[in-house]
Amino acid sequence: MIFEGLVIHRLPYKERDLIVKILLRNGLVGSFYIYGGQGGGKKHKPTVFELGCMMRMMIKDQRVKLDTSDLMISTEYQRLWEPQSVRHDIKAFYLVCLYFELIQKFSMPFQQGTSDYHNQDQEGIFSVVSNALFYMEDALVKKQFNAHQHLTLFMVKLLFHLGIMPDTDNCSYCQVDLLENEAVVFIPANGQFACQSCSSGENEKGFLLRIKKGYQTKYQDYQAFLGTNFTECDKLIQYFCHQYHLRPVELKSYSLLFK
Ligand SMILES: [Zn+2]
Repeated sequence: MIFEGLVIHRLPYKERDLIVKILLRNGLVGSFYIYGGQGGGKKHKPTVFELGCMMRMMIKDQRVKLDTSDLMISTEYQRLWEPQSVRHDIKAFYLVCLYFELIQKFSMPFQQGTSDYHNQDQEGIFSVVSNALFYMEDALVKKQFNAHQHLTLFMVKLLFHLGIMPDTDNCSYCQVDLLENEAVVFIPANGQFACQSCSSGENEKGFLLRIKKGYQTKYQDYQAFLGTNFTECDKLIQYFCHQYHLRPVELKSYSLLFK
């Protein structure tokens, strides 16, 4: 059986082995055991399992499950793509780590023999993450990388694919058209916007328009997605965390990114 996907977690095991988690094309996360996956040895083989690499993994059909774990043993593998510039830019690297941390908070495991590899329900998650990596690399090469621009776009697209996009059309209390209001308020705990008659607070009209714009912007047009800032990224992250019952401090790479 052949799988393709992105390395989102790697754990060295024993002297030279590796356990990797791969976000598969179908949006599920497969766990693989790779003998000698750390590289090294007599021939000083380098590892091909860096974070963010696109891999093709081949596993033998295991008719009988060896144990209760979801680990699949991969005997042959091939690296299809790697983000080369990311590891030379500390902000970009932390951003990739943050993406992968977020993914692991909600993704479902692929279980051999149980999961249907061809089920495409979660496929959108893979396309968000792979586009995010590809265009981050693109921006780094062009020396136009801006962390909050990429993070905002990623969060908006992720929230959409998770089905938890805040309603940007109507006030969540009185249903009045938000675009017709000069000022709107964002309530992160509910992930809702409200008109100023229903709720008081800072005017978040710009934030609302950026969410709309982020939703409409194709990843390849990321350079046209302007006006982003870390304060708004933080609101999106807070909202995500609220939905998944997390606290932002639990996201290790998030605090590193904002230092
Ligand atoms: Zn209202």
